[in-house]
Amino acid sequence: MKKFLTILLSVVLAFSLSISIFAQSESDECQCGHIPVVFVTGFAYTELVANAGTPEEYGAFGVESEAITEMIKGLILPLVSLILTRDYDAFAHRLSADVMELFYDASCDENGNPKNPTVDIERFNPPRAEHYENDYFTFRYDWRKDIFDIAAELNDYIEETKRLTGHSKVAIRAESMGGAVTMTYLKDYGYDSVETVVMQSSAFDGISTISSLFIGDLTIDAQSLVNYIGNFMEGNAPDMVFYRALYLSLAKFAFNPIVDFLGGFIGNIDDIVYDECIKPLFGYIPGLWTFVTPETYEEAKDFMLDEEVNAVLIQKIDRYHYEVQDKCDEIIADAMANGVNFAIFSNYGKGALPIGEKSVSQSDFLIETEHTSLGATCADYGKTLGDGYVQAIDDGHNHLSPDGMIDASTCVFPEITWFVKDMVHTWYTDGYDELVYKLIYTEGQETIHTFAEYPQFLVNNQETEALEPMTAENSDTQSTDVDFIELIKVWSEQIKNAE
Ligand SMILES: [Zn+2]
Ligand SMILES: [Zn+2]
Repeated sequence: MKKFLTILLSVVLAFSLSISIFAQSESDECQCGHIPVVFVTGFAYTELVANAGTPEEYGAFGVESEAITEMIKGLILPLVSLILTRDYDAFAHRLSADVMELFYDASCDENGNPKNPTVDIERFNPPRAEHYENDYFTFRYDWRKDIFDIAAELNDYIEETKRLTGHSKVAIRAESMGGAVTMTYLKDYGYDSVETVVMQSSAFDGISTISSLFIGDLTIDAQSLVNYIGNFMEGNAPDMVFYRALYLSLAKFAFNPIVDFLGGFIGNIDDIVYDECIKPLFGYIPGLWTFVTPETYEEAKDFMLDEEVNAVLIQKIDRYHYEVQDKCDEIIADAMANGVNFAIFSNYGKGALPIGEKSVSQSDFLIETEHTSLGATCADYGKTLGDGYVQAIDDGHNHLSPDGMIDASTCVFPEITWFVKDMVHTWYTDGYDELVYKLIYTEGQETIHTFAEYPQFLVNNQETEALEPMTAENSDTQSTDVDFIELIKVWSEQIKNAE
């Protein structure tokens, strides 16, 4: 009997204890109604510093302007001798050595480990208890690292944020490379701590123009260069339309000879520069392999690395490529099946980086739209899919953009993928943030059909900074039709103001 009583007592005790723990965790949960938002930043968002936290601290990647000036000074004599002797090889050796020295602090060895162990990120914005509506916690990281190590740091950051704020889950807004970090985090740590993920111009599917660098395609196309510089001429104010029309009619004549010269010059030095600089500088940094697209990965690996010398590094980057990048669709579908709300934001209407054959692509200025959208069919920059174009997959909805440039039906997740036209990579506006927070704070999984004011295709209004539903009228963000009457009004206004 005594034994029975002891058992009974301990069962009752254990039961009441677990109730009190349960009740305590219930009451500890913050009731503010605003889930903490973790902002997973992109490539080079946070500065790298050598001798971090000591008086000898200095920027390790931003590279002090003094160092660049010294390097240019040092190249003047070799340049003069190049002109006199046409000895491209000597110049290429010198240039490679100087660039390697300039970036020594940020570079890695053949195994993908930092050469200068004192280099770290500037550490600020740790998790904190205070949290407000439309506010976020900024997660920073050393973008050179193996992305699985960065994901482990993100896990610590999220757990600490939960503990300090008293919320059992967080929402994530991930930009650019942060999208790849978030995918790796979901793969390794699961879905229990995350309520919503918003992908903002995510690099989860790589970047074609960066891949070009990694497969040795350094061709520069004059029209792509014209488009790229033209990206800065935003909006359709009458004077902007005038300058754009003027620029586009003149730029190609000006750029053609420069591009021809550069093409010949690069062709003469690229073998040496690749072997002595580009491969050991960019190829050895594990984090940069995030930007190689799935289509070019094997070719890039063959071109940039050596199977034996770089065996350790290859193991690291293979793991990301095969376990995360190649399985993006599965990881997102699995996350959604486990209750995570997902939204994918893809920007377009900007010319791509002017490197390689994909430089003609529709882009957000840095990442091609086909990659940030996980598979949209996109007309090349400045072109449409054609008058007779029919949506590739008929799922009962319209997924063709009003400007005829994007077919979203081929996206892996067409119902949760929004497109914002005339929006640079990560230059967010108040209107953009408004939609992001609406998705984060509205309960459940929203789609492109949920809000009438936020259909699949939106335009970033350069004057008001609002996101507007795209129509046939507001979709031409690169107009060159000069309205001279309006232009004269604008100029006379400017003259009046100047007086
Ligand atoms: Zn709260
Ligand atoms: Zn659909």
